[in-house]
Amino acid sequence: RAALALAAAGVLAAGVAACDGDGGDDDRTVGRVGVILPDTKSSARWATADPRFLREAFARAGVTADIQNAQGDKSQFQTIADGMISSGVRVLMIVNLDSGTGKAVLDKAKRAGIATIDYDRLTLSGGADYYVSFDNVAVGRLQGEGLVKCLTDRKRIRPVVAELNGSPTDNNSTLFKQGYDSVLQPKFDSGEYVKGPDQSVSDWDNAQAGTMFEQMLTQRRDIKGVLAANDGIANAAIGVLRKYRLHGDVLVTGQDATVQGLRNILAGDQCMTVYKDIQKEAAEATAVAVALARGQRPTTATDVVTDPETGRNVPSILLTPKAVTRDTIPAVIAEGFVTRQELCTAEY
Ligand code: BGC
Repeated sequence: RAALALAAAGVLAAGVAACDGDGGDDDRTVGRVGVILPDTKSSARWATADPRFLREAFARAGVTADIQNAQGDKSQFQTIADGMISSGVRVLMIVNLDSGTGKAVLDKAKRAGIATIDYDRLTLSGGADYYVSFDNVAVGRLQGEGLVKCLTDRKRIRPVVAELNGSPTDNNSTLFKQGYDSVLQPKFDSGEYVKGPDQSVSDWDNAQAGTMFEQMLTQRRDIKGVLAANDGIANAAIGVLRKYRLHGDVLVTGQDATVQGLRNILAGDQCMTVYKDIQKEAAEATAVAVALARGQRPTTATDVVTDPETGRNVPSILLTPKAVTRDTIPAVIAEGFVTRQELCTAEY
């Protein structure tokens, strides 16, 4: 009789599956995905490019995603995560505000049987199932090489170079610095460049970067190059340079190819930025999340990143960044990342 009951249950289960009809996904057969972005101030990307491209990618996949932003607030980040976990998401994707709070959230999700993805920033010791980002050491290398090219083109002799690094709590900042210092340090060592002030900007706080840079500049009026870790920090430094009428004369790098960064390049006040194809990053992360939400094993995460704290190998997707200068801005427009109108409107 037990066998009969089992067989009947099987028939029933098959029947229910068949009754799902068109075979299309819905929330009963495909788990929902929760996405937590970090803030809206450390880079324009988190307010514009990422939510837009993620929303579009999930919509194309027909998977419900709850995309929220923690507004730079760690307790808010945890509250959002708790809400998503108790609402029964099957996948949680985060951009941590720091590894400690990121790990707490990933641990909770794991205990609830939820699959986890680190988006853009690796959570150290976090143990996320997957990681989707760029080759962030390569990002830094492009910044270092970009600054060298700008200084060479402008024939700066023994330039004093200052560094405004990203947040010390963001693993990416370490990787970016590793990349640009691999280019700049040999020049400091050989005496070709002079090492100027080198400081990190907590939480990538753009306003704090401005204050920090103004202090640097009052101490060393002869700074000729600024390795600014992203466009927001670059813009803060450029604001200070404008105040002292040094803009355009001091060469500044950036990252993210934000509208503001590209406008600063067009104005001649920023020498380069790094374009990261966020549409692709969002699409790749979404594909991993969608597979996991369907209970499948993602097949695209063929890169490996080793968590430096635990030695664990995390299946990853690392995309390739590109340097952007005045001459290559049209390529960024052609990619559909920004529009000509956004860059060329008068107000700014
Ligand atoms: C991202 C950058 C961003 C920065 C500040 C980093 O982790 O990779 O694209 O500019 O955070 O938000």
